[in-house]
Amino acid sequence: MAILIHNSLTKKKEELVPLDGKTVRMYSCGVTVYDKCHIGHARSLYIFDVVRRYLKYRGYDIRFVRNITDVDDKIINKAKELNKSFDDVVRENIKAYERDLKNLGIRKADREPRATKYIPKIIAFVEALIKKGFAYEVDGDVYYSVRKFKNYGRLSGQSIDQMIEAARIEQDPKKRDPLDFALWKKAKEGEKCWPSPWGKGRPGWHIECSCMSMNELKSETIDIHAGGRDLIFPHHENEIAQSEALTGKPFARHWIHHGLLTINGQKMSKSLGNFITLDEVFERYSSDILKLFFLQSHYASPVDFSWEKMEEVKKAYGRVSILMKKLDKINKATGGMGSDWSLKRKTEFESAMDDDFNTPKALSVIYDMVNDCNKFMNSDTEGKQFLLRRAMDFIREVSDIFGINFLKESEISVEEEKLLMERIKARENKDFKKSDELRDALKTKGIIVEDTKEGQVWRRA
Ligand SMILES: [Zn+2]
Repeated sequence: MAILIHNSLTKKKEELVPLDGKTVRMYSCGVTVYDKCHIGHARSLYIFDVVRRYLKYRGYDIRFVRNITDVDDKIINKAKELNKSFDDVVRENIKAYERDLKNLGIRKADREPRATKYIPKIIAFVEALIKKGFAYEVDGDVYYSVRKFKNYGRLSGQSIDQMIEAARIEQDPKKRDPLDFALWKKAKEGEKCWPSPWGKGRPGWHIECSCMSMNELKSETIDIHAGGRDLIFPHHENEIAQSEALTGKPFARHWIHHGLLTINGQKMSKSLGNFITLDEVFERYSSDILKLFFLQSHYASPVDFSWEKMEEVKKAYGRVSILMKKLDKINKATGGMGSDWSLKRKTEFESAMDDDFNTPKALSVIYDMVNDCNKFMNSDTEGKQFLLRRAMDFIREVSDIFGINFLKESEISVEEEKLLMERIKARENKDFKKSDELRDALKTKGIIVEDTKEGQVWRRA
């Protein structure tokens, strides 16, 4: 069956037909490393990881690129605010980001390019746009001439004049038109900068994604471009304008955007004091519970986070987990005739996911299956063990797509998991005294920790 994806560009559900057979080239806008990740970032990272895993499960050869924005005004401002060097802010936050990904159990992308490693290619890109008449330089800054690009506004569905209104763009007397945006920014005294044909400066934010996606995926047209809804305008609109002006080809065939996350109905912001970091979530819940919470909403919908909802999700997790524990004990396939009992659920699961990655519907199939199994266990149907075994294999397969381990919670408490995470942190900070103390604390709880090349592993004593 075909996989349907809602395309933000055409505003329609469209069949995924990759440009190149079964190869899917996917790019997702990653984090800007000026601060720690909050749960909104976690949703973005996780949801597209599920898309990637599901497409792989469906037999696609997915090439997934997720960038790191390591040069930006926000980083410059943060460094000033904290009285730290630009490089320190970047280094610390990349380290924290990598730790968060690990704690979330989200795999690395196939390529994770950083903007600052792309400066020569970005400069060549900007030069080509100037040559083609789509960009102009004014005193060390280079701007994109928005009105030269006739499809501008197609993605966000606005007219140019509406966009000027909506964006309330700050007045910059150097621009020829208020809607023009910076491709290259002249450096102020003491700012991080690189030499260029226009003097010392740094790239604007939008150009890096155009440049890195086409280069890393080795194609002028990519299959899927992903990001948050808040990136549609101006970021993605500008990416299209830059890329298509350069190549004359469509930039991305599918644009996929996730909805935004609120906290108790309010936008998350530091000034409102409702900013929740991942560390705070992990103090109370495991990453599996957080993932299950995200799956309960469709990726394109907004999500409202609350601790009460997390408690509900924990119960749902528990129901599946208890069943899996029971099934785990029935570990001997006994032969017997199979039926299409678990296959039917599998088909239901796949059609939910094929239809624009409908995870809430897919989850309800799993929950129904758990109920089936519980009833089935108490019956004396012939070949019962064989069927339950198949059910377990199916839930395991699904767990792999969702990156959730339903057997984990039964093996480890939140408290124990917290100690394990603290130990990873301590080792990263080369605090070996603390890491040894934590090893002892875990040992008294019956958990043996070992350090391997792949990192910390643990087992029950
Ligand atoms: Zn981007």
